[in-house]
Amino acid sequence: MNSCASSDNLDTLPVTVLKGVGPRMAERLQRLGICTLQDVLFHLPARYEDRTRVVPMGSVRPGDHVVVQGEVDLAEVRYGRRRSLLVRISDGTGALTLRFFHFNASQQAGFSRGAGIRCYGEVRAGAATAEMIHPEYRIVDPEAPAPVEEHLTPVYPATGGVHQLTLRSLTEQALQYLGAAAETTALQLTDWLPAKLVAPFRMTSLPAALRYVHRPPPNAPVDQLLEGRHPAQQRLAFEELLAHHLSLRRLRLRAQHARAPALSGNQGLVDRFVAALPFELTGAQHRVNSEIRNDLAQAHPMARLVQGDVGCGKTVVAACAALSCVGAGYQAVLMAPTELLAEQHFRNFRAWLTPLGIHVAWHTGKTRGKERTQVLEAIRDGSAAVAVGTHALFQEEVEFARLGLVIIDEQHRFGVHQRLALRDKGRAGDSRPHQLVMTATPIPRTLAMTIYADLDTSLIDELPPGRLPVKTVVISQQRREEVMQRVRTACTAGQQAYWVCTLIEESDALQCQAAEKTAAFLAENLPDVRIGLVHGRLKPAVKETLMAAFTAGTIDLLVATTVIEVGVDVPNATLMIVENPERLGLAQLHQLRGRVGRGQGQSNCVLLYQPPLSATARERLAVLRDSNDGFEIARRDMELRGPGEVLGTRQTGAMVFHIADLLRDESLLAAVEKVARQLLATHPENVTPLIRRWLGDAVDYGEV
Ligand code: ADP
Ligand code: MG
Repeated sequence: MNSCASSDNLDTLPVTVLKGVGPRMAERLQRLGICTLQDVLFHLPARYEDRTRVVPMGSVRPGDHVVVQGEVDLAEVRYGRRRSLLVRISDGTGALTLRFFHFNASQQAGFSRGAGIRCYGEVRAGAATAEMIHPEYRIVDPEAPAPVEEHLTPVYPATGGVHQLTLRSLTEQALQYLGAAAETTALQLTDWLPAKLVAPFRMTSLPAALRYVHRPPPNAPVDQLLEGRHPAQQRLAFEELLAHHLSLRRLRLRAQHARAPALSGNQGLVDRFVAALPFELTGAQHRVNSEIRNDLAQAHPMARLVQGDVGCGKTVVAACAALSCVGAGYQAVLMAPTELLAEQHFRNFRAWLTPLGIHVAWHTGKTRGKERTQVLEAIRDGSAAVAVGTHALFQEEVEFARLGLVIIDEQHRFGVHQRLALRDKGRAGDSRPHQLVMTATPIPRTLAMTIYADLDTSLIDELPPGRLPVKTVVISQQRREEVMQRVRTACTAGQQAYWVCTLIEESDALQCQAAEKTAAFLAENLPDVRIGLVHGRLKPAVKETLMAAFTAGTIDLLVATTVIEVGVDVPNATLMIVENPERLGLAQLHQLRGRVGRGQGQSNCVLLYQPPLSATARERLAVLRDSNDGFEIARRDMELRGPGEVLGTRQTGAMVFHIADLLRDESLLAAVEKVARQLLATHPENVTPLIRRWLGDAVDYGEV
């Protein structure tokens, strides 16, 4: 078999050497990014099917993929909207219904009462019993049961036009090229991880790991493998995480070689601003301020992430950075993901900076006509030293006179690619602006190192003094009346409150409708409370007027959709009601709740759920009731929903893993970081091929 291989190795040997790969198949494979034997070997199973054991019907749950075996109790054809054959089988522990929409007479005859059936398929909830739709099945003799499969069956990722059986055959052949462990005639697959670097981690060898994951041996620990925790899988997950990490890290190295204006010197503006604030900066704010100031003074672009729990005071830190920049004679721009948040920032910045003689421009996609012309002109001629707005600020027609600093708030709302693309905005020759990104989604440090490997990180780990943790209770909708009275009591006593309506539908229109209905209902039942309604479909001017009224205290109760999740800042608001909190993620709820507890008094949050609540939902809400710590909450949220959900698919969307899982493999990340550093120092030539192996040519963050 190896004869046709010349001196080449598997990294470059084309897939056409395999049996069954003619020009047409080669083309299809190429579309999947499979050109070489290496690509075949790294096309890893997405999951495994466990056909190695027969599962009692009494223990199956919807969603399981299992083998069951039993006797036919009943087979009948149903004539409903669609003709179907229903076969009821049982095994003494329970019963299951098999449902076929396509069947012929001989198939039907096979299901005679008492016949033994073994089948494999996905279990679904059914009317009377659990069901399997079109399972794979065969008739068996219950007295002499046929053996089950010895190996777990690998299932390869969905593949346009390339059959699972083909992929199994290709991997089988490629594994033969790779050879048995001790075979010296086998072809090489380059191991880009020098033995010396990975020796301390005692990992499975690369060929052994590949062999194992493609063809787990009969005695493989099934549960471990299904969970992706087997050492062979961990070896590959490690390498994959390393490739992603290196890709981002290389980007950071490149940035360090790029040039940026050194924004140093005049701190006068910053000092005047800080002196005028009605409060002292916290120690953490001071520390982060000086980290940023230090970066800005360098002649290469800052790339820094400021992480800090909701309410820790990131906006003030952003303003200080902007003022350092303006003081050095450059423009700063602040971008926020939603209009409401951008508006809030604009109002703050305008109030803070106007007394210092700085003109703050406001720009969104909705800025039109004469105003738009004026704003763009002020940004172009530099008379607006600071611009605040939405991502509209990064469109072509927005030109800056001398952009020195880009600040992005709530960075988790933007994708990795978007963030990277923004680095090029304001490029002048080979000089780029500095970049500061801020996020309130607190993620564990090791995770941050992977997702933000191209950034330096600062942490504001201290809340302003005197803040009391928000007290949270979980209450059923059945007690809505009671909750409304609580709102009345608070509002008539001069406090303010939020009533947040959630709706599972993504539709903006439906969300707003729900909020409108709630607002009307509350207005009817709480006639002595002044109620305002804010949602995503209001005109910006209306929204601004409403928010200003709420800030000024002429509205007591603000009924809102989740648009207020970020950015609303009214310290006198001390009560929040969240309807149907079970529909939201924990991190999002924590963000919402962060709208109260901003003043000196005790704040409260009522999670008004719709019964019945599932056990998991109850558990999730309890996490929120028991903790005010964003890190702890994010960690539990990721355990319950996975990092992709929590961080936003757009953010992790650029990080599609074949085998790694950020949360499950978190324990590997420290080692990944270490090996990445060493590899760059001692074997920089290995970095590109390693990235290519895992990310392909297309998705190299470094090329964005
Ligand atoms: P976040 O980090 O969630 O963006 P903000 O920047 O909106 O938080 O700040 C929350 C509130 O805390 C604002 O009202 C802000 O003025 C206030 N604040 C910020 N820093 C301090 C401080 N050092 N002492 C007291 N209040 C502060
Ligand atoms: Mg903020």
